[in-house]
Amino acid sequence: MAEKIPKSDRFEHLGNIVLTGDRPSGRLHIGHYAGSIQKRLEFQDQYDHNFIMIADMQALTDHAAGGEAVSQSVMQLAIDYLAVGLDPEKSTIFIQSLVPELTELTVLYMNFVSLARLKRNPTVKNEMQQKGFGETVPIGFLNYPVSQAADITAFMANLVPVGNDQLPMIEQTNEIVRSINYTYQAEVLRECEAIVSKTGRLPGTDGAAKMSKTVGNCIYLSDDEKTVKEKVMGMFTDPGHLRVEDPGKVEGNPVFTYLKAFDPDQDLVQEMADHYRRGGLGDVKVKRHLLEVMQDLLTPIRTRRAEYEKEQDQILAMLKENSAKASAIAHKTLTQLKQVMSLDY
Ligand code: ATP
Ligand code: MG
Repeated sequence: MAEKIPKSDRFEHLGNIVLTGDRPSGRLHIGHYAGSIQKRLEFQDQYDHNFIMIADMQALTDHAAGGEAVSQSVMQLAIDYLAVGLDPEKSTIFIQSLVPELTELTVLYMNFVSLARLKRNPTVKNEMQQKGFGETVPIGFLNYPVSQAADITAFMANLVPVGNDQLPMIEQTNEIVRSINYTYQAEVLRECEAIVSKTGRLPGTDGAAKMSKTVGNCIYLSDDEKTVKEKVMGMFTDPGHLRVEDPGKVEGNPVFTYLKAFDPDQDLVQEMADHYRRGGLGDVKVKRHLLEVMQDLLTPIRTRRAEYEKEQDQILAMLKENSAKASAIAHKTLTQLKQVMSLDY
């Protein structure tokens, strides 16, 4: 752990600054919604400075040959954002690769992180295993937590609403911040805090620990009604719950996890959970209820999505304009850092 210089109120005048992002490696799913989007919606009404980054450079760290798919996903992701209600007037939605300062910061930060530290990151370890990366892992992939540190600190963000798989990234960010501030005895970078939703990490429809684009166990915000029905009715439940009258398990049963995350009537969820545990409540019945909850959530998003699909030119213009704004802000941070690092020629 890096040593700290004494805490001050150096950044207090900035107020709360929020930054989050997603990799354009596919469309948004309900895991993103519960893990991060709900909080972003709250924050954009609560705080003056919100940044949402489409992390196309990061997506390339494990999709390097798939640049075209990544760039197509950028638009789909932007449409998802607008459809859930993220408002470009309140949230600066921008594209990572259009802010080159982030790359420059990443390179500077790399001098403050060891190879051993990168390899120890539990989320990265997990993903490397999932992707079958051994020693041939692209350096860019191993290094993506450092680039996330650049993304967060470039905007002096102090609040980062994320799923709990991202906690190690926030820890890594703060280590870099402390290390740089200590090395140059100057409070040039701001520490941040992860804001984790009550859901933390939404499991997949297959019961796997995390709903993930890479695994493909997702209900997407853009899925049509029929697909949502098929996915919900085909969900993994308690494999020990063979007959309706058998007692069932609610823990580790994704159908109940989803109900807890999305059903506005939590008293009913509690009642159903008790009934399921006692026995006498069938899986099909619970799934039918979940299906209703999911359609209520997704139908308005789907409708708005169809409208935004027709406005792609305006959306692209908005993304470019916001990226230019983001670049100007990141430039200030980079200039300050270069000054303390004696790179100000
Ligand atoms: P990939 O498999 O390509 O990494 P992903 O589904 O993990 O995709 P990301 O773009 O990496 O999505 O993550 C964006 C944000 O969504 C992060 O804050 C992450 O923590 C959150 N998130 C992703 N999946 C879940 C989930 N299943 N539950 C809660 N939050 C999630
Ligand atoms: Mg991920």
